[in-house]
Amino acid sequence: MKTQTLPEALDEFITRMPKVETHLHLEGSIQPATLLEIARRNQVEIPARDVAGVEQLFKYQSFHEFLTVFMALARVLVRGEDFEQIAYELGHHLADQQVRYAEVMISPRQHSYRGIDLNEVVQGAAAGFAKAQRERGIGVNLAFDYGRQFGTEEAWPLLECAIGNQHNTLVAWSIGGDERHFPPEPFAELFAAAKQAGLHVMAHAGEVVGPASVWGAVDVLGAERIGHGVRSVDDPALLTHLRERGVVLDVCPTSNLRTGAVASLAAHPFRRLFNAGLTLTVNTDDPVFFATTLNDEYRLLAGSFGFTAEELTTLALNAAHASFLPDEQRAMLSGQMQSDIAALRAELDL
Ligand SMILES: [Zn+2]
Repeated sequence: MKTQTLPEALDEFITRMPKVETHLHLEGSIQPATLLEIARRNQVEIPARDVAGVEQLFKYQSFHEFLTVFMALARVLVRGEDFEQIAYELGHHLADQQVRYAEVMISPRQHSYRGIDLNEVVQGAAAGFAKAQRERGIGVNLAFDYGRQFGTEEAWPLLECAIGNQHNTLVAWSIGGDERHFPPEPFAELFAAAKQAGLHVMAHAGEVVGPASVWGAVDVLGAERIGHGVRSVDDPALLTHLRERGVVLDVCPTSNLRTGAVASLAAHPFRRLFNAGLTLTVNTDDPVFFATTLNDEYRLLAGSFGFTAEELTTLALNAAHASFLPDEQRAMLSGQMQSDIAALRAELDL
């Protein structure tokens, strides 16, 4: 499938359109130069000497390879100040994409097993995003994304930590990691406890495994949003169910291509899911590790799947509606975006 060159007005619309991002990982957003700097500062060995070397690591043959690199590089992060630095830089990067609000996942198990204090991790990240907010106006809340391959037992203290950090902008609990060998069902009790404590819940599902994984995430875990969920397209009954339940799919097209979850751009079901009436958002997942930006993802949809300004507006507003902000703040964000997008479209005659 060929990506078309975009008409100038549509290209400018994408660049300037206010956006919300609901699915990205802090550890997958570290700029190579920063990664090297922090590794040096903390004296952690990584399999790269320079920026080109780090970029070389970002060439994956499979989801498994991606996960291995992700885990190896997360090891450079040791102190609260490391998390503050990468969060601050990510906040600026997102503001550059006209992102007004984002929910950023942290993988707690990647840090806790090394004896790192997760409260310090959350405080550091929250401080970095708060600093970016003061400078650029972007709002960010945090979520814990637990690697399901580590089992339920180890998850409990991490969930406790998440619950205890709700005052520190932590708003959601999620599972990610090895979906193939670790189905969602055993996490039912954890998810119930998370919800009970006031956290929102979501799950990576239907990325590398078929519809069964999405059914479990929705019906057994009660996930409000599904990370990826692209394989739902294989099951018409599931599509109906997702539509009826108002479950949102946070879709990350470039990520799916880079990890091999989808064989080619032509095979990506984004357009089919959208046309089936599902509520979709578009996201980067790990912008640096997948060499993409949120603007690139919107351009990809316009250039390869023919998304119009109207349809892109729907996606941007979906993300605002699907966010885990308190009702009043969410309504304010949506309303502001809606009127700003309308003004932009009028200016660009789109
Ligand atoms: Zn993800």
